[in-house]
Amino acid sequence: MLRKCPICELNYIRGNETMCRTCAAERTHRYAPAADDEIIMCSECGEKPALPGYELCEDCLKEQKRQANLEILADKVRADEADDPLEEDITEPADED
Ligand SMILES: [Zn+2]
Ligand SMILES: [Zn+2]
Repeated sequence: MLRKCPICELNYIRGNETMCRTCAAERTHRYAPAADDEIIMCSECGEKPALPGYELCEDCLKEQKRQANLEILADKVRADEADDPLEEDITEPADED
């Protein structure tokens, strides 16, 4: 006898099952402790395990570093422009005729 899965209410399950295979797989994936170490999922994407000591996965960490570098770079450019406003004039090629 089939009845609907009480969790997703989409799939049918048999009388002695508490949830459908989809939900069972999802729960196993979500709650089963992995091997030895506790795996913390990335707080950014939530799809990949975070690196040890970090809250983010490798990809998100790279992205975060990239963003940080861009900001540092932007700050540097702004600082350079502020420091040496005339430097560009010196390096400009002379217009000879
Ligand atoms: Zn289900
Ligand atoms: Zn991530």
